[in-house]
Amino acid sequence: MSVENKYDVIVLGAGIAGVSAASHLLRKGRRVALVDRRPAGEETSHGNLGVIERDGFVPITFPTDLSAILRYGLNRETEMHYHFGAMLKMLPWLWSLKKASSPERVAKFAQTIAGVEAGAVGAHRELAKAAGAEHYFRDTGWVRFFREESSFTALKTHLDFSDTYGASYEVLTPDELNEIEPHIAPVFHRAVWWKDTQSVSSPGKVTKAYADSFSAGGGDFLIGDALGLAQKTNGGWSVETDAGRATAKDVVVALGPWSMDVLKPLGYRFPFAVKRGYHAHFAPRGNQTLSRPIVDSDFGYAVSPMEQGIRLTTGIEFADRDAAPSPVQLERATRVARKVFPLGEKIDEPVWMGWRPCFPDSLPIIDRAPKHKGLWLDFGHGHVGFTLGPITGQLMAEMVCGEKPFTDPAPYSATRF
Ligand SMILES: Cc1cc2nc3c(=O)[nH]c(=O)nc-3n(C[C@H](O)[C@H](O)[C@H](O)COP(=O)(O)OP(=O)(O)OC[C@H]3O[C@@H](n4cnc5c(N)ncnc54)[C@H](O)[C@@H]3O)c2cc1C
Repeated sequence: MSVENKYDVIVLGAGIAGVSAASHLLRKGRRVALVDRRPAGEETSHGNLGVIERDGFVPITFPTDLSAILRYGLNRETEMHYHFGAMLKMLPWLWSLKKASSPERVAKFAQTIAGVEAGAVGAHRELAKAAGAEHYFRDTGWVRFFREESSFTALKTHLDFSDTYGASYEVLTPDELNEIEPHIAPVFHRAVWWKDTQSVSSPGKVTKAYADSFSAGGGDFLIGDALGLAQKTNGGWSVETDAGRATAKDVVVALGPWSMDVLKPLGYRFPFAVKRGYHAHFAPRGNQTLSRPIVDSDFGYAVSPMEQGIRLTTGIEFADRDAAPSPVQLERATRVARKVFPLGEKIDEPVWMGWRPCFPDSLPIIDRAPKHKGLWLDFGHGHVGFTLGPITGQLMAEMVCGEKPFTDPAPYSATRF
C-alpha cells in the first residue's frame, strides 16, 4: 500500500509562481507540499532576463498602424516571429488581445499593475533575505534605448504612467548613457533609465534558493506529475509523488505554461496562450561588461549580465508550445546586438526556449477555480512572471487562508473573460 502524506495545501509547479505561493502559505503556518516533475526553477523561471520591473505599465498590445501589421506579416522581424498554423489557431486569442489594447483598457491595466509592481521588489527581497539569496540582486535599474526620435516619442504613454505611479526614471543622451554603460556603441538617439527596477544575475538560482528556503522552513518539496491530480470523493485533492500520495484540502495550480494541461480535463476553458522566447549567452569582450539589463527597443531584444555571461533574450514567438524550437530571432538579434554590445564568443550550450504563459489582458489569474472546491489558480504571469511571482504568491496565500487580500483581487479573477 502506498504511503499517504496529509497536507493543508499542495502547490503544483515549482517555478517562481509556485515556489512563492508555497513559501507564503508555509509562513502562514500551513503544512505545504510543493510538487514538480523536476527540480525547482528549471523552466521559464530559469531562462528569463531576471528583471523585477517597477515600470511595466504598458502591456504588449495589438499593433494599430498598418505598416507595423504588414512588417510583422512578412515574418522577418527580430522582435516577433510566428508559425503560420499556430497563428491561425490563435486568432480568437489575438482578437481578445486587440480588444484589450484600447487606450482605456491600457490605462486600467496600468492602474492595476502599479498596485502590485510597487511591492514586487520588496516581496522578492523579503524572500531573498530569508533564503540568503540577496547577493544575486542588483539595484542598478534597467535601460531602454531608442535609435529614432519617433520610437522615443512612442514611449510617451509609458513615461506618463511612470510619472503617475511614481516609477523614477531619467532620460539620457548617448553621452549620459555611456557614463553608466561605457561599453555600448552609441547607435541610439535617446535612452531611458528606470531606477527603481531591480535585476538578478541568475533567476533560476534565485528560484531554487527560495525553494531551498521553503524546504529548510519545514515545507516538503516532492517530485511528482501534476497530471495525476485527482479530486477525492470525500473532498480534497491527491497527487502521486515519489514520496507517496500527497493529499490536501486545497491545491494551487501554478504550472505556468502547462497549467491548462491539468485544468482542461477538469472542464476549464480560458483564453490562454504561450509566447515563446529564447536566450543565448556570450562571454564579455575582454573586460568590457554591462551593469544592468538593457533593451534595444527598435529591435525588441534585451541583454543582461548574468552568471553565465551576457544573456541575450528574444522577443515573442507565436508557435505551438510543443513545436520544435525555431530560433531565427536569436540569430537576427545576435547580428544586431554584436554591433552594439561587447559580445565576445558565444557560449556553447543547448538552445534555451521558454514559454511566457499569457492571457490577452496581460494579467495572471489569482483566484479560486469557479467549479471546484479547494482548487486555486495562480498562473498566466506573461512577460512579468519573475517580477510578480512573489507578490502574487502572497496574494494567493492570503486568499487560500481566507485573509483580507492586500490588494483588490478582482482584476485577477478567473471569471473575468
Ligand atoms: C525570454 C523570456 C524573458 C523573460 N524575462 C522576464 C523578466 O526579465 N522579468 C519577468 O518578470 N519575467 C520575464 N519573463 C517571464 C517569466 O519568465 C515567466 O512569466 C515566469 O517565469 C513564469 O513562472 P511560472 O512559475 O508561472 O512558470 P515556470 O517557471 O515555467 O514553472 C512551471 C513549473 O511547472 C512544472 N510542471 C509543468 N508540468 C508539470 C507536470 N505535469 N507535473 C509537475 N510539474 C510540472 C515545470 O517543471 C515548472 O517547474 C520572461 C520570459 C521569457 C520566455
